[in-house]
Amino acid sequence: MQRIVIVGAGMAGGRAAVELRKRGFEGDVVLVGAEAHRPYDRPPLSKAVLTGRIDDTTIPLTLDGVEVVTGRRATALRPGTLETDGGPLAYDGLVLATGSDPIPLPGDGPVRVLRTVDDALGLREVLRPGLRLVIVGAGWIGAEVATTAAAAGVEVTVVEAADTPLRAALGAEIGAHTIDWYTRAGVTLRLGVSVERTTADGLVLAGGELLPADEILVGIGARPDLGWLADSGLVLDRGIVVDEYLAATWSGVDGPPVVAVGDCAAWWSRRYERRLRVEHWDCA
Ligand SMILES: Cc1cc2nc3c(=O)[nH]c(=O)nc-3n(C[C@H](O)[C@H](O)[C@H](O)COP(=O)(O)OP(=O)(O)OC[C@H]3O[C@@H](n4cnc5c(N)ncnc54)[C@H](O)[C@@H]3O)c2cc1C
Repeated sequence: MQRIVIVGAGMAGGRAAVELRKRGFEGDVVLVGAEAHRPYDRPPLSKAVLTGRIDDTTIPLTLDGVEVVTGRRATALRPGTLETDGGPLAYDGLVLATGSDPIPLPGDGPVRVLRTVDDALGLREVLRPGLRLVIVGAGWIGAEVATTAAAAGVEVTVVEAADTPLRAALGAEIGAHTIDWYTRAGVTLRLGVSVERTTADGLVLAGGELLPADEILVGIGARPDLGWLADSGLVLDRGIVVDEYLAATWSGVDGPPVVAVGDCAAWWSRRYERRLRVEHWDCA
């Protein structure tokens, strides 16, 4: 193998580049990322970045001898060729580390999400006493943003479709213990409430109620963007399907080795004997 291209310059992509060099790969390594930034950590975005303690979470990776191409998005994949918005790149080994993207809500209202450092800095900028912030989703990001915003004097309402926060992540029983976090932070938590759509004035809830908002943050989960891989011939199933060694499979075509890692990978767990896709920093 002479040239390994890594798509996605986040935690998993950056670590893959470092490991390739550490383990003695001497060919070209090209790390291609859609964002303008070199690999950075996302967990602090909803914590220390939002509270203003830090601005920069760049990961101190040794990327000597790695060609880092930022601001370049992969748009399609063929065996041996990666199409990007800056032209094609040839590869004879490929690492897919494209993470996941926030799930959108229907509607035409201006909404914010919190996935990138630019999202976090933009949100931090608008938090001010008296602002009416409505957060859709009482997951981890919803909880973290709600408590930080409330501490900054923002009037925060969190709307959650399930009957407890964090139900999907922790189950109803444990999730119920976090209701108190919202109460103590002075956040209005509305459980069992579904959102129909966003509008310029706020949220239209199921049943027709308009919940007014100056800012809306949508935090209802994330999923990998697989659209650009749809015609690639790689096997996909709510993630890039990989085996226990993170190797992907070409279907109907012969192609060079491809692995997927991090949030985008649906890997076979020998321990649980099923496919897992885990959106956690440790996993990436
Ligand atoms: C606000 C926030 C808080 C979090 N807090 C925690 C926490 O407390 N604990 C925890 O364990 N996890 C947390 N996570 C999850 C954790 O950050 C992710 O699991 C981790 O970042 C996944 O790393 P990754 O490299 O797979 O993907 P990402 O970090 O998402 O990186 C993927 C990169 O690929 C780029 N990309 C996507 N598509 C393309 C394309 N077609 N071409 C080129 N580049 C592309 C993206 O722009 C992105 O830069 C948090 C996530 C967020 C957003």
